[in-house]
Amino acid sequence: MDWREMAACLGRDPDLFFPVGNSNSGATLMQITEAKAVCRRCPVVEQCLNWAVKAVSVDGIWGGTTEVERRAMRKRMVRRSQNNAANAARSLQRPSDGLDSAKHHVPQN
Ligand code: SF4
Repeated sequence: MDWREMAACLGRDPDLFFPVGNSNSGATLMQITEAKAVCRRCPVVEQCLNWAVKAVSVDGIWGGTTEVERRAMRKRMVRRSQNNAANAARSLQRPSDGLDSAKHHVPQN
């Protein structure tokens, strides 16, 4: 069964999940809050969020997040993967057999 068939938003007014206007204004903020409340009760919120994050340019509330929040998540994910790649590259540059570091323990005269 496709996760979309278990969505808590099925049968809801789709407009609720596509707020229009300034997300800091009263009416829009209330709409976002209401849509997120539906998402919080959704059994497939994780699948939905994963899809929306990968889909890159989807407007509206998906997986309990706004597009702005998902954009921030993507940036954090990119930063984390760049850090992981940099750490992996650094670990490849370190001596791995311990012989180099052993040389430093040889007494010098
Ligand atoms: S998480 Fe929200 S937008 Fe996604 S399927 Fe569930 S209710 Fe719909």
